[in-house]
Amino acid sequence: MAKRYEGRGVGIDLGTTYSCVAVWVDEHNRVEIIHNDLGNKTTPSFVAFTDEQRLIGDAAKNQAAANPENTVFDAKRLIGRKFSDSVVQKDIMLWPFKVTAGVNDKPMIVVKYKGQEKHLCAEEISSMVLTKMREIAEEYLESPVKNAVITVPAYFNDSQRKATVDAGAIAGLNVMRIINEPTAAAIAYGLDKRTNCSRERNIFVFDLGGGTFDVSLITIKDKFFQVKATAGNSHLGGEDFDNRMVDYFVQEFKRKKKEDIIGNSKALRRLRTACERAKRALSFVYTTAVEVDALFQAIDFSSSITRAKFEEINMDLFNECMETVERCLVDADMDKNNVDDIVLVGGSSRIPKVRQLLQDFFKGKDLCKSINPDEAVAYGAAFQAALLSEGFSNVPNLVVMDVTPLSLGWRIQNDVMDVVIPRNTSIPAKDTETYITVADNQSAVLIQVYEGERTRASDNNLLGFFRLSGLPPAPRGYPFDVCFDIDQNGILTVSAMENSTGNTNEITITNNKERLSNDEIKRMIREAEDYRVEDKKFLRKAKVLNALDDCVYKMRNAMEKKDINSKLSSQENKKINAAITMATNLLDENDQQIEIDVLEDQLSVLESMYERIMKL
Ligand code: AMP
Repeated sequence: MAKRYEGRGVGIDLGTTYSCVAVWVDEHNRVEIIHNDLGNKTTPSFVAFTDEQRLIGDAAKNQAAANPENTVFDAKRLIGRKFSDSVVQKDIMLWPFKVTAGVNDKPMIVVKYKGQEKHLCAEEISSMVLTKMREIAEEYLESPVKNAVITVPAYFNDSQRKATVDAGAIAGLNVMRIINEPTAAAIAYGLDKRTNCSRERNIFVFDLGGGTFDVSLITIKDKFFQVKATAGNSHLGGEDFDNRMVDYFVQEFKRKKKEDIIGNSKALRRLRTACERAKRALSFVYTTAVEVDALFQAIDFSSSITRAKFEEINMDLFNECMETVERCLVDADMDKNNVDDIVLVGGSSRIPKVRQLLQDFFKGKDLCKSINPDEAVAYGAAFQAALLSEGFSNVPNLVVMDVTPLSLGWRIQNDVMDVVIPRNTSIPAKDTETYITVADNQSAVLIQVYEGERTRASDNNLLGFFRLSGLPPAPRGYPFDVCFDIDQNGILTVSAMENSTGNTNEITITNNKERLSNDEIKRMIREAEDYRVEDKKFLRKAKVLNALDDCVYKMRNAMEKKDINSKLSSQENKKINAAITMATNLLDENDQQIEIDVLEDQLSVLESMYERIMKL
């Protein structure tokens, strides 16, 4: 594979609930998962806004219960979707933060930041999470990171993929490649088990995360990774199981306490956190307590849930997962007996019932648990990043061939979807087909591009449209070509041309209407920089305030020692006490308007006084 990008590239698993970053380390001959500032290998995909600062990751998640309206998560569930999408409407009911319709029906998240209302799109929130992941990598590598491979669910459609690339651009990252999460996991698995893959092995990747569900069937032989088929649901995962439990306890609270907490975002957020914790526990124990102090109007909530109940309230969702497994095998035209390994990926793949259903489906076959389900995707992405970067000599050379998850075509006469590239075609792919005009003297053709599996075009997802005009006067049946071209990222370009007369007329869809324009991206990059500068300023100020507080404390203690007083002239004594009082006043004021310089000046005055005292 051609090495194309200068500098180190990282792999980022941009998850709905958690994200993870990894890098290939040539010296160690392997991928390393990078710990964040708290020492965790995964970072919550949360961004919070307060009157004073913006928080990303653990810091944002940890304050979520106290600031629910301004703590944003699940941006991935919104990305590339429209506000009126029924899925978005359903989610909004459960989120404590506000989402409104923006231009072109784009969902906009509304938060209050430093006292002002801000409207942010999902790409911007995701870009903030990506910025955090980049910073985590930069700290570890002690050098700037510009390039990244970002993963998306295999089932992400064209606009969701493009929106993810946009999020990367806003974060100042050059997105070298978008790869599918299960493919990344298969790479991780394949690297782990390289020695077993000299004969062809069929690997089934089952990836159930926080908000998405994906399965893929991948064949590995030597260095070749060929994705045979992929299927999934970009809106099914751990959070849906949490939601079911939340609903269950909301009803119980209503029954027992005669109070309805729906509509109280703080209470719902706290209950959700308790439910998520209980869900995780139920993967290891058979019954667990769910307790929230003063959940609603000072009423404590205390209950419990069994694993059996949890399974019962989610059984339809678990069954949905198994239907998807079956569909993937049918698409790959593979008998389940021919699957060699079943690889579990995503935090929700730890749920015992899910594992049992999967194992039953594969007639009792052992599931592979040797790779960490939280890290496998970032691992594979980092590997792909190394393959695309210059300067790594020890990277094993793999060739990864992915597929397109949805059929792509355009609307011809009578609202028929004419498929040009069927789903599960290996990418990159390019196909040109010749069509004919349907009317005499037809001068233009409207090309409406759709993705999906329905025969009626309007039942599928419209990606964009353009007009091929300038056709010469001619009886019906005049030919023109339409070309569909999918790149390595799974992103589509469609062009149409009329060339029989030598006249070429070509138009390419580069943007569909949900996508951000170049100007919008530029503006968002500028704003992202503003946020970064503000965050840095906040941190600098917080550090100075801490240092000042510390210094005042030390000075006070020192001054209380009698012998020090006697060693200072009365003028010096006065000066020091005045400086302590001034610093105390600055600290007490807690005024956001106080300039950092004023605080820093005062700190250096106190520090030099302290030094002098200590020398006495
Ligand atoms: P991911 O998107 O892969 O990071 O998966 C995150 C999801 O996995 C969240 O919904 C978590 O609640 C869920 N999860 C993590 N650990 C467990 C566990 N032990 N049992 C059930 N779900 C889990």
